[in-house]
Amino acid sequence: MSKIRILDDDLITKIAAGEVVERPASVVKELIENSIDAGASIIEVEIENGGISLIKITDNGHGIEKDDVEIAFLRHTTSKIKNEDDLYNIRTLGFRGEALASICAVSKVEMITKTKDDLTGTKIYIEGGEIIDKIECGAPDGTTIIVKDLFYNTPARLKFLKTPSREAMIVSEIVQSLALSKENISFKYKNNGKIVFATKGDGNLLNAILSLYGRQVKDNLLKIDYEENDIKIEGYIGNNALGKNNRNYQTLFINGRLIKNKTINAAIENVYRSYSTSDKFPFYVVKIIMNPQLIDVNVHPTKAEVKFQNDQEIYRLVYKALQNAFATTASVPKVIIDL
Ligand code: ADP
Ligand code: MG
Repeated sequence: MSKIRILDDDLITKIAAGEVVERPASVVKELIENSIDAGASIIEVEIENGGISLIKITDNGHGIEKDDVEIAFLRHTTSKIKNEDDLYNIRTLGFRGEALASICAVSKVEMITKTKDDLTGTKIYIEGGEIIDKIECGAPDGTTIIVKDLFYNTPARLKFLKTPSREAMIVSEIVQSLALSKENISFKYKNNGKIVFATKGDGNLLNAILSLYGRQVKDNLLKIDYEENDIKIEGYIGNNALGKNNRNYQTLFINGRLIKNKTINAAIENVYRSYSTSDKFPFYVVKIIMNPQLIDVNVHPTKAEVKFQNDQEIYRLVYKALQNAFATTASVPKVIIDL
């Protein structure tokens, strides 16, 4: 008798969900990325109990058309790519069509969405991947998604979560990072009913850094601004006085995507060390803008890593950009902040 069987759909979905949704912060990241991809200029994030009881994200983006609302929650459904060619030229944060399906498989989700061309919106309620209710309703332009009782049907996952306050910290870090990725979007973040931070979305990265980290950080930054071979490297790095005891203050974006990358980190830290007398870690927010065809972003389900066609070249450029920043310390702009 054959021992190998095809898993049923529900189980396949739960296994797939496990790859994308590890904890509340992964839900928050995917949902904010959807709001960014929807062209929102205002994104509000609210959590309760570390995001385990409630995650609510509201955006003023383009919304989802009525006929597409149910489809959006199916596995491998996306409006962002059509064919394999698109996969090598990705300009949105999402493209795998897995987030909504994964999130709704392991929680209770309500979404209210309206496009600006429609007079009414749609409200859909899904529990454990099953549509319970869908109605037409009045709604502002944009999308609100409420995720309740994360992992209520996957107790093993729930057990692996840290305390609500620790989970809230991880959420906070991800919202901070995403707020830095888009200085032209106004972010507001609330935890258990209290506003933790808000950015203005005025397009000024230094103002966003000020809103998130305060004046002491903002006053100790060097500007990074370098371009070579159509690759732009921008952002800020903390000076000697701003050395940190860990790498929690290092934020890196490639084409607006929050990623981790050892090569780039090594380039930044090596230059920092050569100018620094302490063995602390630098604070930095670095943004690399380059032709998307030179990178592969489809390496990991959470899209947290990318592959470069030429690692050495990236190392060289980032190293040079950082050296320039330290060599021209005197040119740190004194930006007038209008709070
Ligand atoms: P992906 O982002 O990879 O396309 P998702 O599962 O995250 O996959 O979302 C599925 C689709 O639902 C998206 O392609 C998009 O069309 C739509 N969508 C999701 N969230 C939003 C939102 N906040 N605003 C507008 N459309 C959205
Ligand atoms: Mg997405």
